[in-house]
Amino acid sequence: MAEPRVPGSEDSLELPCGEWVHPHDLDLGMRSYSCPCGRTHAVVTDAHPLARFVPEMLVDTLQEVVETDDEFDRFTTAHALAMVHEEFPDQLARAECADDGQVGYALVWVSDFDPRQLHEVVVELLVELMDHAVGHADDEAAASEFEEQLAQFDAGAFVDAYRDEREFEDEFDTPA
Ligand SMILES: [Zn+2]
Repeated sequence: MAEPRVPGSEDSLELPCGEWVHPHDLDLGMRSYSCPCGRTHAVVTDAHPLARFVPEMLVDTLQEVVETDDEFDRFTTAHALAMVHEEFPDQLARAECADDGQVGYALVWVSDFDPRQLHEVVVELLVELMDHAVGHADDEAAASEFEEQLAQFDAGAFVDAYRDEREFEDEFDTPA
């Protein structure tokens, strides 16, 4: 049994809504958190693959075209969430748990957005990033082809279809 935790105690994470949660209450299988504030917040850890948000094919392309300037040599979920944080600093809480042996991840984010909203935000940011990266590439044909595809891209419809296809409503999505 998890012990009740004192709000604001060491290692606890203050959520954008003002509630507190301890990373030990957020496990790897969790994609959403039913918060005492009455809402469902999206939960993401750095152990989640980017394919949670976009197809592997797109992940491959992202990792090819996007250069990272940190210790990671490829674009990862952590980079995607860093982008969300940059864009919506007040709507994303983040905790570092690398020294915590009890969780299977090093970073965890809890967003004010629900999982569906966060998914759409991530997809929009990734598409923007790719557009930027492709625009800087030398291949003009590829760039204009991508622009064309982008003009028809509907992030909301994509997210609906992707979540459906990936069957996110599995047992791990059941709020604890
Ligand atoms: Zn909340």
